[in-house]
Formats: sequence, structure tokens, C-alpha cells
Amino acid sequence: MGASCARALAVAGARVTVVRPPRLAGEAWAAAAGMLAAQIEAGPEEALFNLGIAGRAFYRREAAALTDSTGIEIGLAQDGILQVAVEEAQVETLKAKVAWQRQQAQRADWLDPTELEEGWPWLRAGFGGFWAPEDGTLDPIGLVEAFLADTERRGGHIVEDRITGLWREGGRLMGGLGEQKRHPADAVVIAAGAWSGRLDHLPRPLSIEPVRGQMIALDWPKGARSVTVYGDHCYLLRRGDELLAGATMEHAGFATAPDPAAMADITSRLTTIYPAIAAAKPGRQWAGLRPGTPDGLPIIGPEPRLDGLWYATGHGRNGVLLAGITGELIAQGIGGEPLPEELRLVRPGRFWDW
Ligand SMILES: Cc1cc2nc3c(=O)[nH]c(=O)nc-3n(C[C@H](O)[C@H](O)[C@H](O)COP(=O)(O)OP(=O)(O)OC[C@H]3O[C@@H](n4cnc5c(N)ncnc54)[C@H](O)[C@@H]3O)c2cc1C
Repeated sequence: MGASCARALAVAGARVTVVRPPRLAGEAWAAAAGMLAAQIEAGPEEALFNLGIAGRAFYRREAAALTDSTGIEIGLAQDGILQVAVEEAQVETLKAKVAWQRQQAQRADWLDPTELEEGWPWLRAGFGGFWAPEDGTLDPIGLVEAFLADTERRGGHIVEDRITGLWREGGRLMGGLGEQKRHPADAVVIAAGAWSGRLDHLPRPLSIEPVRGQMIALDWPKGARSVTVYGDHCYLLRRGDELLAGATMEHAGFATAPDPAAMADITSRLTTIYPAIAAAKPGRQWAGLRPGTPDGLPIIGPEPRLDGLWYATGHGRNGVLLAGITGELIAQGIGGEPLPEELRLVRPGRFWDW
């Protein structure tokens, strides 16, 4: 989120400094699968549906420019995501989701089991599936590198330090306090993911708690067509020659060590949609900390109690999808432009307003 905000601000002509610590265990961007699942992840009548669609559209619009500018590939694939109904009870829900999303002018299809078997014979077709042909994936590590490289190319600075808190004097925001030095700024964007609430001198407590996600990687099945598939609380996608699968949702504080029980859980859920996985040899496993809020929506926008302070945090499960658009919105806001009405739902004051 910080890299995206920095790049968008640099595009808008601001002088930007990104203050980042040496690599920190559990950074979500480094652990993420990278799905742009605006439609698949959307609940029925999803409040932030349009923001997710705009988030996905951002990458279509900006991927080529980012790569041209930096030489870094972000691995954007726009080849759809499939959600298999593993229980009969899911069929009606998914069909309703197809109908509602079509009413929102999005492409969405219900595929019956025969259609699924024809398209993806190595999958267990279950009771059919929800097909979102416009959803896709990208490589989140490439994305962060590209945002930062483009920020630097546009005159921004990347400084290695750990911010301990806000630098405030006489009721005014002066910048950020780092372990190494003070970082003066007219505007400060808090984009420290699950760690955002741990900063000193915040004007209000930040309602963010880490939600650990564990992932595994296996060899991609030889000859199998690339596809991103959701099953029962699990998903799989292809990156290079690997099959990435995840992800757990756990409240485990800031603990980042992966545990074998999670690997077994992901593997067994995966087996219901991809039976051949049972024979695959275990591969890599890792964990990351999503910044989770009580209502599952991010915190984006200005702090009403402190001029110059902005938040871009709390994006939970969909922070890769929403990173690009969040950066643009923050840059718009800091530049004095009005923000879309929909952002009312993610306003920073909604939890601790006393
Ligand atoms: C296993 C897993 C799978 C996921 N899959 C997807 C997916 O497929 N699609 C999707 O859209 N989202 C996915 N997500 C969610 C996504 O990764 C997060 O929502 C997103 O990374 C949040 O971005 P962030 O910048 O707020 O937090 P982070 O990505 O965690 O980044 C926070 C940054 O703040 C820095 N920081 C922390 N403390 C300080 C400090 N004191 N001073 C300075 N810097 C600091 C950290 O070093 C880090 O770089 C996944 C997450 C996980 C864990």
C-alpha cells in the first residue's frame, strides 16, 4: 500500500519519501497469492464491489506503463477465476451471485459440472462453478518492486528506517519519527499493514489486528491448463512452474512461523477440487499477516483529528487487488481533489469516534 501511494503521489508531482524497515517477517505483500478476485471474493451485494472492480481495472490500465518505466514485470494475467461449488448447498448462492454481478454490468457465468469437466478435466467438477472471466492474478512482489522503482525514477526517495510513531509538535503533524532519524513531511500516509496500530502518538487507536495467512507451493501438474480456482476455503493458482495454494485465516497475533497442521489442512481442502494433489510431494510453506479490521473493510482517507495524516491500511484479504486504486485515491485526496462518495464506508473515524 505504501509503495502504491508513493508511486501515485510521485505521478501527481509530489516529493515523496518511502520509509521502510529492513525486511520484516510476515509482510503481507511478500506472502500474498496475488489474485485480483474482485468478483470471486465479493459477497452477496458487496458494499465495496465497485472499488474492487476499479482496483482490478487499475492494473489493466497501468501494467504496461509500469513495466515500460521500470523494466519490471508484474505478471498480470487476466484469464479468469473459477469457484467450484463443492456442496450442493452452494449452488443457489453462487447462481444468485452470478445474477447480481450481471446486474452490476459485470461478466459472470454459471458453469454446470459437464462444462467444468470439459474445460478442466483434472479438476473434480463438484456441483458446477461460478466463472469470473475478467478476474485474474499478478505477482505481488514484482508489483511492489515496480511501484518503488517508478517512485524513484520520478524523483522519490526510499529510505531504510523503522517508523516508531508520528512526529507531532504543538498539535501539528511534522512528519514521522524513525529509529534512525526524524522524517519531516507535510502529509504522512500510514501504510504499515498489520503494524499500523502499533505506532506511537496516533490521534486515535487503530482497529487493526493481524490475520495470519499460510500458503504452500507444489509443482504445477504437467500438461494441466493454467487456471485459478477457489474451492472450500482454499484456492490454487499457477505462478511459473509452481502451484500456489492457500490460505488460512488465523488470529495468531504477530506469530509468523508456518505450522504443519496448516499445510495438512490446505492440502486436504485442495484434494476435494484437485484429487491428484494427494500424491504430490510437500513443497515450500510460508505465512503473512493481513491487516484485518472489525468490519472487514479497509481504512482509507484523511484523519479528521489531525491535518495532514492519511490512512491506507486494513485491506485484509484483498490488499493486492486494492493497492493500485488506493494509491490513486490517496494521491487525489492529498492533492485536494474530492474523494468518491463510496469511500464513506472506509472512513478512518468509523471505529473509534469518541
Ligand atoms: C497468505 C496471503 C495471501 C494473500 N493473497 C492475496 C491475494 O491473492 N489478493 C489480494 O488482493 N490480497 C491478498 N492478500 C492480502 C494482501 O497481501 C494485503 O491486504 C496487503 O499486502 C496489505 O498491504 P499493506 O501494505 O497494508 O500491508 P503489508 O503488505 O503487510 O505491508 C506493510 C508494510 O509496512 C512496513 N512496516 C511495518 N511496520 C513499519 C514501521 N514501523 N515503519 C515503516 N514501515 C513499516 C512493512 O515492512 C511492510 O512492507 C494476501 C495476504 C496473505 C497473508
